[in-house]
Amino acid sequence: MKEIPAFAAEFANCIRLLHLKGHSPATSTNYSFIDDLEQLWVTRSGIDKSTCVETDFICIDRHGKPQTPFEHMIPSAETGIHCTIYDMFPNTRVILHSHDLYPVLLAQKNTLIFEGFELQKGFPSVTSHEGKIEIPVFPNSQDMDSFKSYLWKQKADLRYQVFMIEKHGFYTWGSSLFEAKRILETFSYLCKAAWSI
Ligand SMILES: [Zn+2]
Repeated sequence: MKEIPAFAAEFANCIRLLHLKGHSPATSTNYSFIDDLEQLWVTRSGIDKSTCVETDFICIDRHGKPQTPFEHMIPSAETGIHCTIYDMFPNTRVILHSHDLYPVLLAQKNTLIFEGFELQKGFPSVTSHEGKIEIPVFPNSQDMDSFKSYLWKQKADLRYQVFMIEKHGFYTWGSSLFEAKRILETFSYLCKAAWSI
């Protein structure tokens, strides 16, 4: 029997707070983490994120297959994206997904460009507001295999640890929940600011 790590409760609390800020309407989005035993945990499919609790995480292998005793449960439909991000960036411990509205409104092109905003410093390795930040926008796809190989081809564009999916939402990741949440809030804020100007 796999024990749910204590971190899952802290993470579920964060997920409920993100829901209050509009990141996960109508049971959408999904979240994952890797625990101290290198086990991968992802939210199960179809749960209301306003009531997310630690038992909503299930343990899967690196290909997305539920592990004992979770075989009867269905992981999120986008689990393949999580597995791919962990493969591409081995330092990743937490992945967040958001259906926040402003990024969806703003992302009508292949790339989102932010320039001059103080909060650009919320992205990894950015120390000044003066540079230009480019965040890629990928086409939406239900075909996980083709999206996974597409992601690998775009790896060079992912240095800010965030990508947007057109008319869908965005993914962020980090070596901790603190880092992943900071990037989520940074991107969310910048999209709202750029849309509102
Ligand atoms: Zn989604």
